[in-house]
Amino acid sequence: MGRQYTIYNTLTRRKENFETIHPGMVGIYVCGPTVYGEPHLGHARPAVTYDVLVRLMKYLGYKVRYVRNITDVGHLEHDADEGADKIAQKAKLESLEPMEVVQTYTIAYHDAMRRLNTLAPNIEPRASGHIIEQIEVIKKILQAGYAYESNGSVYFDVQAYNRDHKYGLLSGRNIDDMLETTRALDGTQDKRSPFDFALWKKASPEHIMRWPSPWSDGFPGWHLECSAMSEKYLGETFDIHGGGMDLQFPHHECELAQNVASRGCQGVKYWMHNNLITINGKKMGKSLGNFITLNELFSGSHALLEQAYTPMTIRFFILQAHYRSTIDFSNDALKAAEKGLKRIMQAAKDIKGLTYKGDSENEELKQLMESVMEALCDDMNTPIALAHMFDAVRIVNTAKEGKSTLSLKDKEILDEMFGRIVPEVMGLEDESASSSDQNLVGGLVEMVLEVRKEAKAKKDWATSDLIRDRLKEIGVNIKDTKDGTEWSL
Ligand code: ZN
Repeated sequence: MGRQYTIYNTLTRRKENFETIHPGMVGIYVCGPTVYGEPHLGHARPAVTYDVLVRLMKYLGYKVRYVRNITDVGHLEHDADEGADKIAQKAKLESLEPMEVVQTYTIAYHDAMRRLNTLAPNIEPRASGHIIEQIEVIKKILQAGYAYESNGSVYFDVQAYNRDHKYGLLSGRNIDDMLETTRALDGTQDKRSPFDFALWKKASPEHIMRWPSPWSDGFPGWHLECSAMSEKYLGETFDIHGGGMDLQFPHHECELAQNVASRGCQGVKYWMHNNLITINGKKMGKSLGNFITLNELFSGSHALLEQAYTPMTIRFFILQAHYRSTIDFSNDALKAAEKGLKRIMQAAKDIKGLTYKGDSENEELKQLMESVMEALCDDMNTPIALAHMFDAVRIVNTAKEGKSTLSLKDKEILDEMFGRIVPEVMGLEDESASSSDQNLVGGLVEMVLEVRKEAKAKKDWATSDLIRDRLKEIGVNIKDTKDGTEWSL
């Protein structure tokens, strides 16, 4: 904690000196995915952004408790209040249990996040596992007079809340202006005002995801889970709440209001929002044909992709933009990122093979290290930090070409920069190592299958079956076809 970190707080709209609530310990809550589909490009940006934040805090000497939820109930098609539950809808389409949908896409999300080398959160609570806690929060809000029951549902009373506290602090929206420009409700709805949002929804007879409550058999509103679970795992007030900019309103605005209404404090010290991604200048969307899943990116199987891009290329590309700036994915930009990443990774290898002499100090290198840390501690400015690292790569290359010499003191700096900050903070790992491992495994399996083929040719069925069974035990499945033997891990 030797260095002061500054963080841009969405709530105050300025950079602030970061001070933890519990000294030495940072509590971070990030809104995770609603698990009803394949993980896509949109999931990668917040995951990588907050992963670097967690890694950086650890590097700076803090203990971190990182909580990222899984939304598995209550996220309706049209924001919080209307339409079918996204998960129930998918379950109906695919004739599955809702929890089968949740399990399938939670696993897919975890797989993709692992490939992007993001650290698993310390706690990953699910909304459906915290119904009791959410009901308790609703009771407190009702007691405080900021919610009302209507036909078995419970709604947050935004106008009542706004009279005592200000609603709209996070998004900078003014409720009175909003009321003037919004048409009144038609009287057939349960809500009193169009801005009120559901804390509890009574389930219609065909709605399958339902729980008992004092008001009806139903389910919690989407915004509620994050208030309940962040308090449960991080306490009444915690340090950092993160999420995509698309969540700032209404999701986080409602969360903040729920916190104040139920526990009398905002609950969050610093609100942090990452900007969104575009693809070839356009918003990503299924209707635009530019919806790209992470697996499609990694395999290059989407029509818009000219090639496959490795997880580290995607990660590096995301880090090349500041998290508060938009980022545009295109083949050209990704190819450039691929090249940049290679240069950094090559330098990380090269520093191991250089000869270091004496103990003079390369002043430029020393300054670059200082600038890298300065950039990282300036609201996590990864693009500037990387730009300084590229200057350090140039110094490494000059030494490699024999045009200059570096000392043991310089080596310490290079080790810190390429041996710790690159893998530990940026989370960039050398993919060539894992691809050579894959080649090795592939080669060995092919070799064993050749031995089996010979055994079969000699009608030595015992050996052939033994090889098949032993491979199966270690996770290699083989299938005999008329053209030979196929295998998969
Ligand atoms: Zn949330």
